[in-house]
Amino acid sequence: MIKDFEKKIRAYALKNALAHNGVAMQGPVVSSLFNEGLKPEEVGKYGKKISEIILSVNSLSAEEQEKEFEKLEKKVHEREVREGLSELPNAKKGVVMRFAPSPSGPYHVGHAMTACISYLYVKKYKGKLYVRIEDTNPENIYTPAYRMIKEESDWLFDKTEKIVIQSERMEIYYDYAEKLIEKGAAYVCTCSQEKFKELVEKKKDCPCRKNTFKENMEKWKKMLDEKGFKEGGAVLRFKSSMKHKNPAMRDFPLARINLHKHPLQGTKYRVWPLMNLAVSVDDIEMKMTHIIRAKDHRDNAERQKMIFQVLGKRFPWTAFLGRIHFKDMELSTTKIRQAIEKKEYKGWDDKRLPTIASLRKQGYKPNAFWKFAEQVGLSENDKIMDREEFFRLLDNFNRK
Ligand SMILES: [Zn+2]
Repeated sequence: MIKDFEKKIRAYALKNALAHNGVAMQGPVVSSLFNEGLKPEEVGKYGKKISEIILSVNSLSAEEQEKEFEKLEKKVHEREVREGLSELPNAKKGVVMRFAPSPSGPYHVGHAMTACISYLYVKKYKGKLYVRIEDTNPENIYTPAYRMIKEESDWLFDKTEKIVIQSERMEIYYDYAEKLIEKGAAYVCTCSQEKFKELVEKKKDCPCRKNTFKENMEKWKKMLDEKGFKEGGAVLRFKSSMKHKNPAMRDFPLARINLHKHPLQGTKYRVWPLMNLAVSVDDIEMKMTHIIRAKDHRDNAERQKMIFQVLGKRFPWTAFLGRIHFKDMELSTTKIRQAIEKKEYKGWDDKRLPTIASLRKQGYKPNAFWKFAEQVGLSENDKIMDREEFFRLLDNFNRK
């Protein structure tokens, strides 16, 4: 273990030296080691060793540094690839998994990295992969994304996925909303946003919590009726607890009125389910067994678990993925889209963009992303990478 760690220190020292005229510096080497799991309190323990290694690396010629770096990197790389994916619990009988993009734009490398892990598990256990386009927020939808997501999913997952569009399933969400009202687990709240925020802060019950079943059903119908509540006039809330230790869990919203025109559904619907309702319903209906999602969905997973519980359903096994922070790559589809509209880029497949459209055009194969995702594996640790490092690794996988 210690030996391995020393090799890593040496590899980072060599890498840093090669990037800076043969001279490695302690600071950048230590911050790279944080990515490998070094804890701040351990810097004291390893500090001396790190300085020694840096000193020895700096005494080599550039040629020697390069040679040794290549050799070390190959070794570390081979070992990591051989490890492969860890097993999932209770997966022997097959798995049902999903990847759930929002149609704000097509895929970029961040999507590919998250999605490919689920895809690899589905392949490993001969399961089923749903690509679920989450478009129940009629705002911020980029219409060409439907076509692009479908096309790029076919490419990335070898046409094995099943595409589901949430806005085509509205009646199912409405059914579940009524089911939750019947169970006394949801109520229609007509308090203003400010008022409700205040109640959350004071851990006080909202007066609408006392609505009877009949009152809730009447108000729910009034949400659906165009002559009923106005936009912002009422929301359907989950009755969790107004005293929950995490304020974000206190009677969170399930559905709201949004009169924005939807690109596929037009003005057919005025009440739209929010993410936690739509996701729970679909995960129940599609019989999801395992879910791998980004770490920033931890609170949402907690909310969805509550919905599963009141409906008497077993919550799927869930793992969270750390984020890869790309230091110098723009991964916001909204920002990329705006730049394309301003003609700063030729299109989604512009060579300078980290989109799948661009990388496909440049000749990268889906395999390269699979291998990359396999190496990252199921890890909750955040990683920091720069563009150069990412493409060096991707090129490496693409060659194989
Ligand atoms: Zn209320």
